[in-house]
Amino acid sequence: MKSLLISLATASVAVAACTSASGSPSTGPQSTDGSSRPTIVAAFYPLEYAARAVGGDAYDVIGLTPPGGEPHDLELSAAQVAQIAGADLVLYVKGYQPAVDEAVAQQAADHSLDVSAGLTLLPAAPDGDQTATDPHVWLNPLNMAAIGTAVTDRLSSSAPDDSSAFTANNERLGSEMAALNEQFTTGLASCRSRIMVVSHEAFAYLGSAYGFTQVGISGLSPDAEPSPARMRDVADLVTREGVTTIYYETLVDPKVAKTLADETGATSAVLDPIEGLVAGSAESYPTMMASNLATLRTGQGCT
Ligand SMILES: [Zn+2]
Repeated sequence: MKSLLISLATASVAVAACTSASGSPSTGPQSTDGSSRPTIVAAFYPLEYAARAVGGDAYDVIGLTPPGGEPHDLELSAAQVAQIAGADLVLYVKGYQPAVDEAVAQQAADHSLDVSAGLTLLPAAPDGDQTATDPHVWLNPLNMAAIGTAVTDRLSSSAPDDSSAFTANNERLGSEMAALNEQFTTGLASCRSRIMVVSHEAFAYLGSAYGFTQVGISGLSPDAEPSPARMRDVADLVTREGVTTIYYETLVDPKVAKTLADETGATSAVLDPIEGLVAGSAESYPTMMASNLATLRTGQGCT
């Protein structure tokens, strides 16, 4: 898997290099003097979405996490570290991807934005250490709107001539996110079960916004292998609470969630934490959130 990730990253670097050298870019117009556009490096997919939505045609957006890659344990190639160093702006969530935190501290201290800085953060472990925070902020659409505004403010201060375009773009993003929030609020108002059993604890912000408590089979990181005792506890909870659906995700092996579903007689369904795109996907943040809403309405018995 690691060699695949590295080769994908190398491939995207090669494409970017071709684009700026050839003079016939496939990703959009170049500036009138022929130089390549300034770049925003986004640490993972939802931040790419926000960067493209606000930056529009003014920036090239480079994602660090390749499609199909799992962002928590992302490792950076030397070329990606160079992209971070050379970018006009790097967007990331502090505490989510250790390799990105380190590269930003060393290479981009003066041109980076921790998009979670202005948000109300939830504790990583509600019952334990209150200093560590949960990084999965993007699963509340209103947080995505706030991230868009933070990006707008930053771009407007570095490129004031384009400020009105960024602001107009951000208003569209804000309307899109407000509409999603409205759909979630309405669609999840009346549900039989308020407990979501998920494969890793990515859904605290979604749960907090729309009235669900998540129970993660693994912890905050999808790679943590659950202990047999943890599996038994969750299975007991599924039976006791009459949970009918165990959620698994697209970028992580569904084996554990499916085993638990089989053991308890529950069904399993994809609830996407939108940490990245599946390779070749034509989905976007709003379409994935719409799928998540439909999945939750069925899985939680909402009317
Ligand atoms: Zn996660």
